[in-house]
Amino acid sequence: MKTSIGLLYGGKSAEHKVSMQTALAVTKALNFEKFEIHPIYITEDGQWIKGPQLSAPAENIKQLEFSPTAALPSPAFNPSMFQAEDSGSAGTLDVIFPLLHGPNGEDGTVQGMLELLNLPYVGNGVLASAAGMDKVIMKNIFAQAGLAQVDYVSYIRSEWEADPEKAYSQVEEKLGYPSFVKPANLGSSVGISKCTNRAELEEAFKEAFQFDRKIIIEQGVTAREIEIGVLGNDHPECSVAGEIVPKKDFYDYKAKYEDGDTALVIPAEIEENEYQDLKEQAVKAYKALDCSGLVRADFFLTKDGQLLINEVNTMPGFTPFSMFPLMWKHTGMEYPQLIERLVELAIERHEEKQ
Ligand code: ADP
Ligand code: MG
Ligand code: MG
Repeated sequence: MKTSIGLLYGGKSAEHKVSMQTALAVTKALNFEKFEIHPIYITEDGQWIKGPQLSAPAENIKQLEFSPTAALPSPAFNPSMFQAEDSGSAGTLDVIFPLLHGPNGEDGTVQGMLELLNLPYVGNGVLASAAGMDKVIMKNIFAQAGLAQVDYVSYIRSEWEADPEKAYSQVEEKLGYPSFVKPANLGSSVGISKCTNRAELEEAFKEAFQFDRKIIIEQGVTAREIEIGVLGNDHPECSVAGEIVPKKDFYDYKAKYEDGDTALVIPAEIEENEYQDLKEQAVKAYKALDCSGLVRADFFLTKDGQLLINEVNTMPGFTPFSMFPLMWKHTGMEYPQLIERLVELAIERHEEKQ
């Protein structure tokens, strides 16, 4: 019997296109003898469209009729989408793979829906997904776990609107320049600015508040960017480390997805003791957020050898050329095996809950 996988991709988020690219790569990589893919495309305005079995899920998708049910958390989908009706295997799909980045996908919302439907799904659960999506909550949890990180402050829009001058001077007093201003709930560097003076800070606040009602401002560090992959449920394992060497000032959206000229160095050239420290801190962060499945944990490594955690990504970039799969490849796990492992972990977690 083949394992049927509902591949959720696209999504109502700024990272829609990235997800489409990834879905295509995952579909191509999976062993068709063992797995059966059921693509479910979520449009940028939140419509759910189930396609036939495709090798290229971004094409040739058919629109389904939607019949919202009052008891469901979102009117934009229909639970019949999770039926394997168009294949030999009747019944519900075996596992759902939410290949979605950013809000409305990586943030616990889709995970909550899948919990309600009692379906096994790949990746982090509701809590870790939600906490990992909010940079302020995530950093508060890291602080509580004793992880070293940069200093930060946060504002909600109404606080800022009430007294913008106060917010700017507080940031200058507490953090100084350079600082990084970010929307609390996004990824892929969307809405992030580096500021070196008051005028830039003011612009950066305006920009970040266009994406979120809450923002975070962090002290800027000059450091190498070192990342590590973590995989597992109760017994997480780490990949080799990787380093991002941005050609531009910082690793912004364009550098990540459009220019393609950012160098990924795998394994990262770091000292053995730094690698041990990295693994220890990554697992600590994993446990602090109660992660399962996978995360990519991102760190800054300063000149004096200090590791500062920047963030974890609960559904990291996942094309075959993305950091997370490449780090696992160098650890000895090829892309198709990595996907199979994630499916196994999803089923294992689901069975443990029953
Ligand atoms: P995202 O979740 O969008 O990836 P990050 O917090 O990782 O957001 O920020 C994106 C990039 O901005 C980082 O990879 C790094 O290059 C740069 N950056 C972010 N915060 C800082 C900081 N405090 N100091 C120096 N560089 C930073
Ligand atoms: Mg991120
Ligand atoms: Mg990042």
